[in-house]
Amino acid sequence: MDISSLLDTLNDAQREAVSAPPENQLILAGAGSGKTRVLVQRIAWLMGVENIPPHAILAVTFTNKAAKEMRGRLENMLGTVSRHLWVGTFHSLAHRLLKMHWREAKLPEQFQILDSDDQLRLIKRVMKTLEIDEGRWPPKQIQWYIGGQKDEGRRAKYLQRTGDLHTDTLIKIYAAYEEACERGGLVDFGELLLRSHELWLNAPELLNHYQQRFQFLLVDEFQDTNTIQYAWLRVLAGQDTYITAVGDDDQSIYGWRGARIENIQRFDRDFANVHTIRLEQNYRSTATILKAANAVIDNNRGRMGKELWTDSVDGDLISVYAAFNEQDEARFIVDRISAWIEAGGARRDVALLYRSNAQSRALEEAIIQRGLPYVVYGGQKFYERLEIKNALAYLRLLWHRHDDPAFERVINTPTRAIGERTVEDIRAYARERQCSLWQAAEELTETDHMTARANNAVRSFLSLIARLDIATREEPLHKIAEHVITQSGLLDFHRNEKGEKGLSRVENLQELIGACKVFDVEDEALPALGQFLATTALDAGEAQAEPNSDSIQLMTLHSAKGLEFPLVFISGVEENLFPHKMSMDEPSQLEEERRLCYVGITRAEKKLYLTYAESRRLYGNDSFNLPSRFIREIPRELLEEVRPRTKVSRPVYHQRAVPSFVRQQQTDDGGFHLGQRVSHPVFGEGFILNVEGSGARTRVQINFDDQGLKWLMLAQANLTPA
Ligand code: ATP
Ligand code: MG
Repeated sequence: MDISSLLDTLNDAQREAVSAPPENQLILAGAGSGKTRVLVQRIAWLMGVENIPPHAILAVTFTNKAAKEMRGRLENMLGTVSRHLWVGTFHSLAHRLLKMHWREAKLPEQFQILDSDDQLRLIKRVMKTLEIDEGRWPPKQIQWYIGGQKDEGRRAKYLQRTGDLHTDTLIKIYAAYEEACERGGLVDFGELLLRSHELWLNAPELLNHYQQRFQFLLVDEFQDTNTIQYAWLRVLAGQDTYITAVGDDDQSIYGWRGARIENIQRFDRDFANVHTIRLEQNYRSTATILKAANAVIDNNRGRMGKELWTDSVDGDLISVYAAFNEQDEARFIVDRISAWIEAGGARRDVALLYRSNAQSRALEEAIIQRGLPYVVYGGQKFYERLEIKNALAYLRLLWHRHDDPAFERVINTPTRAIGERTVEDIRAYARERQCSLWQAAEELTETDHMTARANNAVRSFLSLIARLDIATREEPLHKIAEHVITQSGLLDFHRNEKGEKGLSRVENLQELIGACKVFDVEDEALPALGQFLATTALDAGEAQAEPNSDSIQLMTLHSAKGLEFPLVFISGVEENLFPHKMSMDEPSQLEEERRLCYVGITRAEKKLYLTYAESRRLYGNDSFNLPSRFIREIPRELLEEVRPRTKVSRPVYHQRAVPSFVRQQQTDDGGFHLGQRVSHPVFGEGFILNVEGSGARTRVQINFDDQGLKWLMLAQANLTPA
């Protein structure tokens, strides 16, 4: 796009926001009104017209993916965009700061990001040292507690011990956990934010430098900032920096995770001379969809109040389908998706949204059965897979020997005869000396504390890492990865695993080498390995999808924020599920659920389906829920009920056409086929995911509702159709 025509595609209010003179701005507007678009164009305007240098601008996005898109859109408008323009999530920006100023932040240069898995493991270890019983103090709750404290900016040392056993124990664990992180140079997600906020407070010259440097701060999805993020921004903005906050109070959906809707409500009191701009035209959805969204959110109280209108056509009515059960619901959805595709629609234009992750299983079954490609956002993604985490742990150890979680993960992976006893010895020694596991292992091998066998095994592990390090020091990133994956024995280890799983793990490891090859270093002056490790840790938890793959998009309503799709299904629109039963008794939580519903409805551009099931099996239980109140909140004239099929007791899969890929894989197995639900006398119900071998040697892989994945010999499994 030509910079001179930048304003042509905008409406009056948008144009006002984009081309305003330097000022504090609050762009407060409903869904699909072009807030994100305005934010991007404002940056383009500042650089292209006002000649603001890129290094004077910092933009905060909600996901790393959104940051990439934003950069891409700016490049379309302006040509290449300098690295000096900072665009990213709060976490990635905080990380960038800490990496540059590790000294002032009192971190080791090679500090590591701790993902939530590693964090949990570390918490468990700390609790063991303190001899605190995991049964009474579930580590997950401790993790939640620590995260909550950090989001509010509270360190353990400032927390008041009350004499109450519960509170005091939490504080004690928090304090010990902080110490362990300190020793290992480990930084969890909450710590990234807290520490970079403390950086402002403890290093005034540095703060001053950044306050001078950044003249413009722009923040998207402002309604979901938490206390520490808001504080960080406020301090950074100081007196002379202009801030543009973009948001919608009706889309604040992370209150349960510490987001403060008040931040947007008090913005014009905290910042001087705020120019509030309201965008009122929605460009995303049909009039019908928009009317429905407006009607639902109208039931919330204490809103900041916004108008939203559209001049687009009424479009289709919103279809509501009352399914018999969750399988029938899934089947209905997949039928409609198939029809969409047959009519020429793209798969990536279809989003399937749900309230809870667990709901995706039934939907996935039906999609797999139809042979359609799909991706699950926020599901288990590449960098969270076991084999990848193992490989990364080796790389982390090369990078920083005192990374305890990495050490623990690979000391005996692949197995090298280092037993749990030996590892426990190393841990105990490390606890006693307050040193890292690596150091403990080194010192222990110099003593006769361990058996000769254990001693040898540990020694050879230590020297393996040392050798890998020496051999790869001058190599490019992908060569380091390749060398480490092969020489550590990981590749062979997974190659020798039987079946699909081993195969896919080997493929994933190869994919990792590929990812290293195309990795874009941010800073040529710094080692690529360190930058790569940080990126993988920050990306974890977002989408697993290849960005351009043509697949149906499955995700929770929460992860759909900010996105848009021509065809949207919201499934499980039932009382107890959506609104979630944990939220129904608390008015403020119910309102957050309603905002989530508003977010869901407003993702749809052309056509929206709402589905619910009369009976549903979830988490192994049957439930019978009423249709959600949110459906009743939509005016009847906007809805059409899809007539249910003639009643059948359950969907009968084998009477329907089976797609060819399934047919090919079907075996002579006495009537079972992929995707079928079956029941096992011990493991309960599940569905068939994989079939291998034939005749008496046929093996089936079943995803059991309660027991997870298992391979069974079909001849002995005693399966019956469920
Ligand atoms: P959300 O609240 O969901 O984040 P948003 O307010 O950020 O939504 P955008 O995603 O920026 O909205 O815009 C919604 C859609 O409307 C996009 O496809 C965008 O390109 C389009 N759009 C925005 N403004 C205009 C305009 N003036 N003319 C045409 N299309 C527009
Ligand atoms: Mg947006």
